[in-house]
Amino acid sequence: MATTELEPTDRTRLRRYRDRGSYDVDIVHAILDEALIAHVSFVVDGQPWLIPMTYGRIDDCLYFHGASGNHALRALADGAPACVAVTLLDGIVVSRAAFHMSMNYRSVVLFGFGEAVEGDEKRTALEAVVDHVLPGSLGTIRPIDDGELRMASVVRFPIVEASAKIRTGPPIEEPDDYARSTWGGEIPLTLAVGEPVDDGRVADGVPIPAYATTYRRG
Ligand SMILES: Cc1cc2nc3c(=O)[nH]c(=O)nc-3n(C[C@H](O)[C@H](O)[C@H](O)COP(=O)(O)OP(=O)(O)OC[C@H]3O[C@@H](n4cnc5c(N)ncnc54)[C@H](O)[C@@H]3O)c2cc1C
Repeated sequence: MATTELEPTDRTRLRRYRDRGSYDVDIVHAILDEALIAHVSFVVDGQPWLIPMTYGRIDDCLYFHGASGNHALRALADGAPACVAVTLLDGIVVSRAAFHMSMNYRSVVLFGFGEAVEGDEKRTALEAVVDHVLPGSLGTIRPIDDGELRMASVVRFPIVEASAKIRTGPPIEEPDDYARSTWGGEIPLTLAVGEPVDDGRVADGVPIPAYATTYRRG
């Protein structure tokens, strides 16, 4: 039976606002699947690095990809301990007090080690990255060829030691502040999707595909 709840560890156990935390695998996966960018941090020779990357997910693994010389991927493949953060911003929480300004969000933090992947898994992982960023495009766009596969590096990162944290709702005010003549509430934020713009070189008769016209996250 598939794991439904991740085991909290000393690193992933929330101490601040524990009630906002979750180790539910479906919640962790849903946040990872909706977000587009992961911030990947690792330490090499005492130097911390933090690199934004896109990714794909297959079951309980994230996959990061890049050029074969990619420094971050090489460090992960070489066994650098890593921490990954993925964030969805849902709103600005508008407090009546400067101290209580906040944000509504859904985020995931993962700890672990990466591992380089090759062969069939590498191709499947690259497709998972494409499918994550532009769902529905595989099957229409040209598949990755063997030369492109050789030029790419792919690292697998297990979703095992991970936590989600979710803040929703209004500001948490000092009781006396509700009487102030100051507005409080939330400004919701969403990712705005614009109209697709062609690159000026679209072959005659090629329509804008549904994966572009109906693009949305979540
Ligand atoms: C967009 C955004 C903006 C934020 N802005 C601020 C800010 O300005 N100031 C501030 O204090 N906090 C902010 N937070 C909350 C912040 O991420 C931490 O949760 C909070 O600072 C508590 O940190 P801590 O190290 O004391 O947490 P602890 O509870 O001690 O963290 C222990 C473990 O809990 C897990 N955890 C903690 N936070 C998160 C998280 N956000 N998502 C997933 N797992 C988590 C991790 O595994 C972590 O190792 C923000 C969060 C987001 C997503």
